[in-house]
Amino acid sequence: MKNCEYDTVITKVNNLFSKKNTLRHLRHLVEDIGPRASGSEGDRRAKDYIAESLRSYGLSVALEAFEFALPEVEKTEPPTDIETFNVIGLVNVNEQKHGEIALGAHYDTYWKVPNCPGATDNAAGVAALLEAARITNQLVGDFTLRRNIKYIAFGAEEHGQLGSYYHVTGKKDFGKLLEASRTDDTNQKAELYQQIAKEAKPVEGISERYYINMDSIGNTGKFLCLFIGDVKELEGIKSVICKVLGEREHSFFEHERANPLEYGSDHVWYNLIYGVPALCFLWPVKSKNDYHSSMDTLDKVNLESLEISAKILAVLAIMLAKGKVQREWKKRVTERHKGASYLFLDNKQLIGDESGGG
Ligand SMILES: [Zn+2]
Repeated sequence: MKNCEYDTVITKVNNLFSKKNTLRHLRHLVEDIGPRASGSEGDRRAKDYIAESLRSYGLSVALEAFEFALPEVEKTEPPTDIETFNVIGLVNVNEQKHGEIALGAHYDTYWKVPNCPGATDNAAGVAALLEAARITNQLVGDFTLRRNIKYIAFGAEEHGQLGSYYHVTGKKDFGKLLEASRTDDTNQKAELYQQIAKEAKPVEGISERYYINMDSIGNTGKFLCLFIGDVKELEGIKSVICKVLGEREHSFFEHERANPLEYGSDHVWYNLIYGVPALCFLWPVKSKNDYHSSMDTLDKVNLESLEISAKILAVLAIMLAKGKVQREWKKRVTERHKGASYLFLDNKQLIGDESGGG
């Protein structure tokens, strides 16, 4: 295994990273826009801001619109249906056959409490995502990239990961999912989620081979990485992350199968429905009082963690997009996903891949 490969990528990402830029995103989402509950004015402004930012960095941008109705008991007068969006920015390397890498973060805020500014959860995740998008699009010419990179800001995560569910399945029927997300009994909730996943099929033409999620950058020193999928796939990714983290405290949680309740965020559908390896990064909040509350303010975000997060996202995006892909399609038959074929990376090859070096 050669180190020069990620050293080059890390150096370039470090050189391009802008603290000012990342902070500007964070500040704008939290203080200028404020609460971004699905369907609200803030939600729409955040969607526009994210799309505009991605466009200004040279990515091609697409919006996925979807609607859902709040359960009866939650409807205010007059009952209104909610329309929201996923915002997708594409770094196009003109290479489709090896699939794509997807990275995402939800931009909506918790809807049950008024005035939830959602700084750590998840404006900071979106800020890191936007900065990673800017950096990677600038690096396209520096490396031989074999996969397009998709940056997705998901809507309606706080209502039960609706945006990612829609993105992965193309299904606009959220009834069961809304019901499941509002179930208090955790065992029952897990069962309902598994049921929904079992009944769902991936949307036609989806070609994302990895999904990396960023959800919550709190004021704490510890970086957590949750991984679901074939744990062998994690080895290469782990070494890349550790290299960027340096001496910082971190923990990896590896699971063969997604448990939607382990840490429910947008990554779970990628694994439960689509079967690809899915990661979720977070730096948990220090105090539980800050979580989903009006106290989730700008000062709760650790700016160093924000910087490292943007760098990890950018470095992984480049490394995975460079990935040397095994020649053959490996056919994998899983219980929930019979007959689907996936292209797998050999992560050792990925890290040792010299041919795309720049
Ligand atoms: Zn969140």
